[in-house]
Amino acid sequence: MAISWLADVLRGAGVEVVEEGDWLARSAGSSFSPVGVLWHHTAAPSSASNPHPALNICINGRSDLPGPLCHALVDYHGVFHVISANRANHAGRSGGSGPIPAGDGNTLMIGWEIDYAGDGGGGVQQRMTQAQYDASIVATAAVLDRLGRDSSYARGHRETSTTGKIDPSYIDLGSMRADVAAAQGGTPTDPPSEGTQLRATVGNLNVRTQPTTSAAVVASLANGTVMTVQCQAVGEAVTIGGNTSRNWAKITAPASGYVTCHYVETGPNLRVSACPV
Ligand SMILES: [Zn+2]
Repeated sequence: MAISWLADVLRGAGVEVVEEGDWLARSAGSSFSPVGVLWHHTAAPSSASNPHPALNICINGRSDLPGPLCHALVDYHGVFHVISANRANHAGRSGGSGPIPAGDGNTLMIGWEIDYAGDGGGGVQQRMTQAQYDASIVATAAVLDRLGRDSSYARGHRETSTTGKIDPSYIDLGSMRADVAAAQGGTPTDPPSEGTQLRATVGNLNVRTQPTTSAAVVASLANGTVMTVQCQAVGEAVTIGGNTSRNWAKITAPASGYVTCHYVETGPNLRVSACPV
């Protein structure tokens, strides 16, 4: 199928759209039966003066991967640049995530490349802009409505990847799905309070028995370790780089205990429920 309705559906939801050239014909093959939406970051640093640094590569591809590389690129200002109505090389294989089955991710999903650096492999680090986040929520809700699917059919590349992709960085995917569910007018299908997967952003991160630096260490985690965060606890104030926060993440995996929020990928606002006291 071709999603030739994409630009109209996005505009109808209030998203600003730029149709990039012959997007209706641009294609990376024929097998395309999307059931959901996949979120990515481009790893390119964007700014107000350079709002879509990865646009050309998403249209034309790379030496090792022909374009199109997504269906729409979301620029710094939250504008959707529509690139393809057909199969695109964005997802690779899906290992299965939520209701998205294992299989050919480029057949199964529509891809947004959100143009920000994320954890750019040790170079520039950049979070998604608020405009990118807001537009991505509205666009995802509108497209899932069109597909007749709920918010659980929106996934992050790091959830479906079988090759260790980390995108999109610095975003709580459970919270993002909850916001899509709200935009669709339903109830969240994936409440973050049930446990949200978040990464550690420093090596030798101590997991402690209580939310204080004087409590016993039960584990020490490597940089990038995926933790299951149950809730946000208030504990000892910790100051890192001039920022002070009393928030600690209570985690249940890969160990049970507390880690300071400074070294959780979302930063001090974990966007999970407060722990019962
Ligand atoms: Zn990706």
